[in-house]
Amino acid sequence: MDELRKDPTRGNWVLIRPKAGSEPSADCPYCPGGEAATAPEIAAYRKDGSAPNTGGWSVRVVPESDPYFRVESELVREGVGMYDMITPRGASELILESPRHDDTLATMTVDQIESALWMYRDRLVDLKRDGQIRDILISRRHKKPGVAPHHPYSRLTAIPIVFAATRRELREAREYYQYKRRCLYCDLMRQEIAAGERIVKLTPAFAVIVPYAARTPLETWILPRRHSCSYEDALTAEAAAELAALYRSYFRALAERFGDPGYEIQMHNAPNLRSRILQGEWATLRDDYHWHIEIQVEPERANRVGGIYVTEKAPEDSAAELRKAWVD
Ligand SMILES: [Zn+2]
Ligand SMILES: [Zn+2]
Repeated sequence: MDELRKDPTRGNWVLIRPKAGSEPSADCPYCPGGEAATAPEIAAYRKDGSAPNTGGWSVRVVPESDPYFRVESELVREGVGMYDMITPRGASELILESPRHDDTLATMTVDQIESALWMYRDRLVDLKRDGQIRDILISRRHKKPGVAPHHPYSRLTAIPIVFAATRRELREAREYYQYKRRCLYCDLMRQEIAAGERIVKLTPAFAVIVPYAARTPLETWILPRRHSCSYEDALTAEAAAELAALYRSYFRALAERFGDPGYEIQMHNAPNLRSRILQGEWATLRDDYHWHIEIQVEPERANRVGGIYVTEKAPEDSAAELRKAWVD
């Protein structure tokens, strides 16, 4: 039985899942025609009215085959002596972003990327109806070391606790707001736009920047210029079209001008506000938190000493290089 256990000395949660053994499969179960090889689909966009679990889809969502978190498991919180344990109730889904096996964000059409962006929203809206789900991470890897190239997908992980990284961000944003009565990210963006040296691209709805304290060279954030704490509430038709075009340009620049490095995209989004546990919790979150997207290029090459990142390229220089490499 899998368990989420809390390390009381660090406050970190660890998923303990004793594993029996794995069965690698030769054929891609995510390509059209292989629909029977996955568990029944959770959602799909189909232009031609084709039946669920057949070909003809443009974006398809399936449960992960050996999920870390499952909706079916019952949520149990337990004290084990001095320790805390929760059952891993949640969801592990794969959002298949294209029917084409070797597509990447650099080769997909803007329309295809836009469909994937809408599917992110649909899944967030659907899962946030479940008050036992506290936090949902949508992440995407390209070229992970030690992992064979695979069908293009984003991974969605919904869990009954708040991710440590989200918790830290929420706390910093809340403390800034309590002190200044302004959103940290809105302020940050205003200053970055005024300075300009770390701006990669500005569109009506988004600012693409290399952050002031980038942890790796080429670390990039995409910030919506209009304040909103959650992606699913903020995604308008214009925003989706703009974000899709930004994705395409940014990832083409990486692929064509920077040697197609691996990267990880993470969507930083408000937790499930329906899942408040304490009275008054997240009371100012709608005003103090600002959803955004963070991209780490070659995160596995990050240099660290005792938790301090060492970045051997000035963020201003990275921004200049990305600006120059930008392909509209
Ligand atoms: Zn495939
Ligand atoms: Zn804001």
